[in-house]
Amino acid sequence: MPDSTPLRLEVSHLSRAFGGRRVVDDVTLTVAAGQVTCLLGPSGCGKSTTLRIIAGVERTDQGEVRIDGRLVEGPGVHVPPEARSVGLMFQDFALFPHLTVAENVGFGLRAERARKVQRIGELLEKVDLSGFGQKHPHELSGGEQQRVALARALAPRPRVMLMDEPFSGLDNRLRDGIRDRTLELLKEEGAAVLLVTHEPDEAMRMADEIALMRQGRIVQKGAPYNVYNAPVDKAAAAFFSDIN
Ligand code: ADP
Ligand code: MG
Repeated sequence: MPDSTPLRLEVSHLSRAFGGRRVVDDVTLTVAAGQVTCLLGPSGCGKSTTLRIIAGVERTDQGEVRIDGRLVEGPGVHVPPEARSVGLMFQDFALFPHLTVAENVGFGLRAERARKVQRIGELLEKVDLSGFGQKHPHELSGGEQQRVALARALAPRPRVMLMDEPFSGLDNRLRDGIRDRTLELLKEEGAAVLLVTHEPDEAMRMADEIALMRQGRIVQKGAPYNVYNAPVDKAAAAFFSDIN
């Protein structure tokens, strides 16, 4: 591929050990502007730890993280999470229960009041929750809460969106529709996305590029079609084989 799209996120040679065991082992990956890279692998392979290092809530032992070319994590460098321009979205949504939907969406927004109100309204409309601003999270369904979490993460227009299994808490029946709508919205907003998942079908559906992870290491990288059709080894083939 010609190198014409700017790289929003560059992760090089990250390694992290807990109690002498390397759970992230020489991980290198990139996300281009407007693209979705899926970090895909079985439970326990080190996906969340990798994402947490990129977010700045976990430190790395080796390697570095760059956002828009700026070094945010590396030897002697640790930019705090709130100064990295990353949006975060997790499986449990982690909405603030005591805040309204509008307050949740506006939480990370640093802007004057009128602009804040405008951006909140715009996002609620995009996630089809226009009438929901004054409700509280407990009054919403799982799918609605997911959309509030998405709107909240996108509100400050982060350079990079980090999503850790953001659909696994959802009802099977709703999931595909929500995945499609989420992808549409991420593209509309021009986000560069690193999406963590243990589900091959989710990666096939959403990724521009897949980075396949096993026991802390990236074992294969490529377009979904290529990774699916030309698995690097038997274990990779088996991992994809239970796709439906
Ligand atoms: P995944 O997200 O792929 O399921 P994780 O990154 O959560 O994997 O975890 C990878 C491994 O690192 C697991 O064995 C987990 O128990 C271990 N681990 C994660 N965080 C810590 C920690 N803070 N202390 C010790 N071990 C951890
Ligand atoms: Mg995880």
